[in-house]
Amino acid sequence: MKNPFGSNIVSRGIAVLLSASFVCGMLVHEPVIAETTPDPSGFVDELYMAIAGEVPDTPKVTNIKTALEDGSITGIEAAHRIVFSSEGFYANRDDADFIDSMKNAAGNDIASLMGLPTFIFLGELRYLTREDVFEWFVSTHGFQQLCFDHGIEAGEYGDGNFTDPDAPMLALTFDDGPSQYTDMILDCLEEYGQHATFFVVGYNACDYQEQIARADYIGCEIGNHTNGHANLSDLDSIGIFQELRRADKYIIMATGHPATVIRPPYGAYNDQVRMVAGAPLVLWNVDTEDWSTRDTQSTIDNIMNVAVDGDIILMHDIYESTAEAMLTVIPELTNQGYQLVTMSEIAEGRGGMEPGGAYFRFRQLDEI
Ligand code: ZN
Repeated sequence: MKNPFGSNIVSRGIAVLLSASFVCGMLVHEPVIAETTPDPSGFVDELYMAIAGEVPDTPKVTNIKTALEDGSITGIEAAHRIVFSSEGFYANRDDADFIDSMKNAAGNDIASLMGLPTFIFLGELRYLTREDVFEWFVSTHGFQQLCFDHGIEAGEYGDGNFTDPDAPMLALTFDDGPSQYTDMILDCLEEYGQHATFFVVGYNACDYQEQIARADYIGCEIGNHTNGHANLSDLDSIGIFQELRRADKYIIMATGHPATVIRPPYGAYNDQVRMVAGAPLVLWNVDTEDWSTRDTQSTIDNIMNVAVDGDIILMHDIYESTAEAMLTVIPELTNQGYQLVTMSEIAEGRGGMEPGGAYFRFRQLDEI
């Protein structure tokens, strides 16, 4: 499966040229590229084939097609969900494979490949991220042609963050994992095109590297919850530094980068912790008490009855009851119009975060 739809694009391109000259010859001044019947299904299927070699048989795929159909996402946003899906993660673990699949998805045509940064051309990601390669991909002639062929509006790329700071947002956060239940939560987030933040502890991060890598790949954020669930406010600065650095080591092994946010265990921090942290401290304002009730319905109620725009919700992905609750909470909040976002996403456009700063919620700026 070297070039799943490149040849199609070429033949369609010729067809468009022929019809264009024919129409011009007839002196018809209608736009040549008029009514292409929107075909989100074909668009999504072709992209999935190019990225993962198959179209997964899950509700996620139907949800992407529906969202394209009703205009709630653009072609670029749909492409982002497909490229940064679990199928994309499992099919393209090596950088070279990822670059190859993006070149294939762009159709490998000359016009597209001419715009390739050299390192991508050489099949290496030096100095670039996968997001950078995606940005190149959606700028290519091949991608634009794919959108055109299927009557899909490509939309704007922006910075790859598709959240709207003015629309309601919630930050679901999970501490103390990963665990055997984390994949269940990731599946559900992905099905609804939503994100969350996972504050991992070192002693679990070493055993669940794949879950951390997968979460990071599909757009979730990985936070540092210390190596051994230490009360950082009891430690001296060297102790604080070591607790954070050891957990970061496992996060870097899984994702290639350190944690972008920190959650101090027990919510315990002092000025020394703030000084040593080197990243924002994320606390919470909605405590589901899932660790104490271990009850699915109570976890659901403790979110659905209180959560409002800008809240940071505390949970733990080491309990089956919490993962079960997410199967209700994620679809219901999605249906209510909430964007479920990472800490970095909720902070952006709502005042941002600073290293050593402590954050409990992110209201819209005019409400602060
Ligand atoms: Zn904890």
